[in-house]
Amino acid sequence: MKCFACQAEIPDYSAVCPKCGDDPQANPFEAPTAPRTRPVSTPSEGDATGGIIPYKNPKALIAYYLGIFSGFPVIGFFLAVPALVLGIMGLRDRNRNPAIKGSIHAGIGIGCGAIFMLLWGAVIIGMIINYLSNTWQ
Ligand SMILES: [Zn+2]
Repeated sequence: MKCFACQAEIPDYSAVCPKCGDDPQANPFEAPTAPRTRPVSTPSEGDATGGIIPYKNPKALIAYYLGIFSGFPVIGFFLAVPALVLGIMGLRDRNRNPAIKGSIHAGIGIGCGAIFMLLWGAVIIGMIINYLSNTWQ
């Protein structure tokens, strides 16, 4: 029989393909929701995550985490600003070299960064105005 994963000729009814270690019975065309075939066009992608986490785009990755943590009230303002800046830098790196990925992480960093920068910025300005109006009275 032929292995569905790597097309190698293997002994009949093998549970595991001796060539590629995959399940030779699994027909990739029968299960489109769980594709077993590996993308051929990414030989450099050695990590098991399959490029979900953009290790090669640290700016986008840092922007993502800064963006998430910038939700912390008021102090998050100081995380939102670098999240926005790093997100834009990471997106620019990604556009220059699509192989490093990270556009989603950069986008989340930019989105959260922008929202929380405006939000906490408004809160900080409100606190300053409140402080000043109290001291001047
Ligand atoms: Zn195989």
